[in-house]
Amino acid sequence: MRSLHWFRNDLRLRDNPALADSARASGGLAAIFIVDSKLMAASGGETPRHQFLRAILESLQSELQERGVTLIFKSGQPSKVIPKICSEYKIDQVTWTEDYSPYSIHRDDQVTEALRDRAIQVRTHKSRVVFDYREILTQDGRPFSVYTPYWKRWYARLEEQAPKAKPLPRLKGLPVSQDSPKQPSLLASAHASALDLPSSNEKGAARRLDQFLERTVGLYAADRDRPDLDGTSRLSPALRFGLLSPRQCVLRALDAVRDDSSRQEGATKWINEIAWREFYAAVLASHPSASRRSIQPAYRKIEWNDDPNGLKAWQEGMTGYPIVDAGMRQLLRTGWMHNRVRMIVASFLVKDLLIDWRIGERHFFNHLLDGDPASNNGGWQWAASTGHDAAPYFRIFNPTRQGERFDPNGDYVRHWVPELEALAGSAAHRPWETPLMAGGYPERIVDHAERRTLALDRYKAAREAHKAIGT
Ligand SMILES: Cc1cc2nc3c(=O)[nH]c(=O)nc-3n(C[C@H](O)[C@H](O)[C@H](O)COP(=O)(O)OP(=O)(O)OC[C@H]3O[C@@H](n4cnc5c(N)ncnc54)[C@H](O)[C@@H]3O)c2cc1C
Repeated sequence: MRSLHWFRNDLRLRDNPALADSARASGGLAAIFIVDSKLMAASGGETPRHQFLRAILESLQSELQERGVTLIFKSGQPSKVIPKICSEYKIDQVTWTEDYSPYSIHRDDQVTEALRDRAIQVRTHKSRVVFDYREILTQDGRPFSVYTPYWKRWYARLEEQAPKAKPLPRLKGLPVSQDSPKQPSLLASAHASALDLPSSNEKGAARRLDQFLERTVGLYAADRDRPDLDGTSRLSPALRFGLLSPRQCVLRALDAVRDDSSRQEGATKWINEIAWREFYAAVLASHPSASRRSIQPAYRKIEWNDDPNGLKAWQEGMTGYPIVDAGMRQLLRTGWMHNRVRMIVASFLVKDLLIDWRIGERHFFNHLLDGDPASNNGGWQWAASTGHDAAPYFRIFNPTRQGERFDPNGDYVRHWVPELEALAGSAAHRPWETPLMAGGYPERIVDHAERRTLALDRYKAAREAHKAIGT
């Protein structure tokens, strides 16, 4: 038996059940990564995530090489590439980690079909999530649309059935001809951006997890909303590309509580956030159209503004609202943004600028290292009040008050918006009160109070129009 393991976004060796399954093949295994031509075309070219992916693939390649396994790089359509490689290397079975985005489900069905025609076995395994969308259901077998009961069911299942992490498998590589590119040059960029990337290998991600659980998790429940503190794990890019499995995260967090019970509250809250990630994956798997339109039918016909200047100011961090601008500049410079600030900037785009949430979703997706179809869509539909268990439509963040509450000393905004350096403490959140001190910083592009009223009117109009059609 000869096996092929297809690496996609579970780019690690440890706790990788699909890889471990391939490793059991007595005749040896080959590994492949495919630069999917459709996904590349959809992203419209190089994004910071590609730069990060390249670094991860280089690390993975050398880890595999040390164990005698060559990582084959190909580009094209997986349903064509994989059968071809299978005939080249006389492969009997192909393994991969299940993925649940609408595109992935469709692509994997196509590959499975192509392999079935050639009598090649497909073996897939769960490890992108602790529990997938088929495992956490209401009593009548339906997907949850509200998070709290989902979480209760999720956590109860964790207690009933503690998952186990898979040990590092012993690998035996198949001989692979070296005519395929040795390096992920298929993802090569003409102009690599100057982002300071997080660790790109599984050992680095595991170290970051240990440090977080050792030093930070105890205060996580209190500090997680503070962008001025290093209060969260920053593991989202590692989870996005599977440098760590969520199962490893949860098991390590439970161990950390066993070692020190004062971490209980923070660790439980953190596990709860991991479950949000799974909730959004489940929502998208059961509502594939959410990637194109609002889940709530009442909000499918909101009147959006066509405002290229407003959009540009938002994208560049030049709206005149410090917390919004700090977040947008952090995103451009680092490929990451704090969760509280993501909520604030998303609310600002949708409810102050009245720009369609899908435009913001796309901008985030292009710039985030952790850009993930389900969590990104879930976050945007939450902020726009259009998703499952979303913010109610009348919840409109006041960006100034949010800044003062969650960045009380102004440290976060001064760090990302140097024009505000001369404004001490929380005065940095109100530069319009001392304009001479905020040299070069723009005026506010909209009046929040006016836009709040307008947003409420637009949302109400959409609801009423929907009701009228329904009756
Ligand atoms: C508009 C918007 C867009 C977002 N887009 C993405 C995205 O594309 N990819 C992404 O991973 N997260 C996204 N999030 C969720 C969240 O902001 C990030 O997961 C979090 O900021 C990552 O930082 P961290 O690793 O320090 O999180 P921690 O607080 O340490 O949480 C641990 C892990 O839990 C998960 N998590 C935490 N909060 C959420 C959440 N609200 N929703 C889903 N998962 C969560 C992440 O995997 C995170 O790494 C978005 C949120 C909003 C409001």
